[in-house]
Amino acid sequence: MVRVNGVVCPEGAFQVGPFDRVECGSEVLQARVARSLMLHKPLGVVSATSDLEHRTVVDLIGEPWATELHLAGRLDRFTSGLLILSNDSSLTEALTEPGRKLGKRYRVTCDGDVTPEIVVAFEKGIWFAKEQVATQPAQVELLSGRQCLLTIYEGKHHQVKRMFARFDVKVTALHRETMGPLSLDPALQPGEWRMLTADELQLCS
Ligand code: URA
Repeated sequence: MVRVNGVVCPEGAFQVGPFDRVECGSEVLQARVARSLMLHKPLGVVSATSDLEHRTVVDLIGEPWATELHLAGRLDRFTSGLLILSNDSSLTEALTEPGRKLGKRYRVTCDGDVTPEIVVAFEKGIWFAKEQVATQPAQVELLSGRQCLLTIYEGKHHQVKRMFARFDVKVTALHRETMGPLSLDPALQPGEWRMLTADELQLCS
């Protein structure tokens, strides 16, 4: 009577995954489709699945299944760039699991110079008193006096802004380019999204 992904399953105890199709006779017991996508988050939209005041990234997707998605990490309302959403918690957990220390690269524009003192301090790690923890050694690539690519290995609240604020430097623009093995597709305009490819899904596992 029981079929898993169309194959008769004679075992009394059989482990099914959340996206296996399970049928019993003519009745479909489970049929969920795994959906994972990348979105180019525009400025002004919140990284949440619902919000009473502001448009959310889920509103941008505009599909009935979008409400099932979880976010793999958030971006501040006025940060743009790569955001990953999925209904597959194994994927969102793999991308946010602190132990994996996946790098996230941001293009940062500041109101002051990214001085050698800042670069050295970021490469050593910055003490966050609130969390009683030092940030993982980060990497800085200077693009100009006030702009750099910064790679960090965790996702503390307002992390990049707080790191620069320690040196009285304000971040005036922040854009996430990569998250672990995934890079924002340059073909995506702000507000656009696409499903992750099989290769991208493979890279995350
Ligand atoms: N750091 C920040 O300060 N803001 C973000 O949105 C992401 C990282």
